[in-house]
Amino acid sequence: MKIAFIGLGNMGGPMAINLHKAGHDVSAFDLSKPACEKVAADGVRIAADAASCVSGAEVVVSMLPASPHVEALFLGNGQQPGLLPLLAAGTLVIDCSTIAAATSRKVAEAAKARGIAFIDAPVSGGTGGAIAGTLTFMVGAEAADLERARPLLEKMGANIFHAGSVGAGQTAKICNNMLLGILMAGTSEAIALGVANGLDPKVLSEIMRRSSGGNWALEKYNPWPGVMEAAPASKQYAGGFGTDLMLKDLGLAQENAMAVKASTPLGGLARNLYASHSLAGHGALDFSSILFSVQKKS
Ligand code: NAD
Repeated sequence: MKIAFIGLGNMGGPMAINLHKAGHDVSAFDLSKPACEKVAADGVRIAADAASCVSGAEVVVSMLPASPHVEALFLGNGQQPGLLPLLAAGTLVIDCSTIAAATSRKVAEAAKARGIAFIDAPVSGGTGGAIAGTLTFMVGAEAADLERARPLLEKMGANIFHAGSVGAGQTAKICNNMLLGILMAGTSEAIALGVANGLDPKVLSEIMRRSSGGNWALEKYNPWPGVMEAAPASKQYAGGFGTDLMLKDLGLAQENAMAVKASTPLGGLARNLYASHSLAGHGALDFSSILFSVQKKS
């Protein structure tokens, strides 16, 4: 299948490589040269710009930071024309970015008017899941459009959930990430408390992992440096899932909560914790660096 892949960052890069390795004809593009070079090293063809990337594509996959990027890419803004007029009727667009559900619905409507199917398919599983091809997809789509996307999603992920119509994948994703932000902050707090009392962070993490406090951060993404070799915490919090991206997701959750008058006290607290952490200059570090806000300075 002829696929255009736009956005080759921490997540999009390995996802594009997995589609290429599965034998698809992938043309890829990112505004960042280093991001393009990483993917090209695995044999993926890099296009000169977004317009040439989508030329002749049957499917377009996007993996961009936030709502304004996705809206500008497909609908255009003051600085750039959108891609939708360049796509043939019948093209399938799979947006894997985490963005506002309202933006997904807006782009999907404009796409539909041109005979193009647009679905939201945000992911969970981190960069490890993107590399291993074991991501979880939360899809908002008409059932028939999801069935068209499924064979490609299966090359990048292990779990594919149909959350509902367009936008529903994004709603599921922000519920999940609100919980993740809370869990990472709480896990950091618990380990820091133990260490302040002289406990070994590795031993304490293992105790909690196998006890009632067990959670994904303790299983796969420990925030304390040196506890898990592969976790961003053991690599100076480089790569992974940026603090500013988590802050964006917690903001989306709060906007959504206000719109439906939901009470999300811990989600609100978590958003403020990550906002302070970002203001302290840690926005580009992996979100597990939220540990700094509770770690005793030595
Ligand atoms: P990233 O910042 O590493 O990558 C985003 C890439 O998009 C960058 O390389 C940037 O240059 C590129 N880009 C921005 N605008 C562009 C444009 N107009 N054309 C082409 N390229 C453009 O981010 P990421 O960690 O890969 O995350 C991408 C999305 O996935 C975000 O919405 C994030 O919230 C979500 N997500 C991330 C993780 C994670 O663990 N990193 C996990 C699940 C979901």
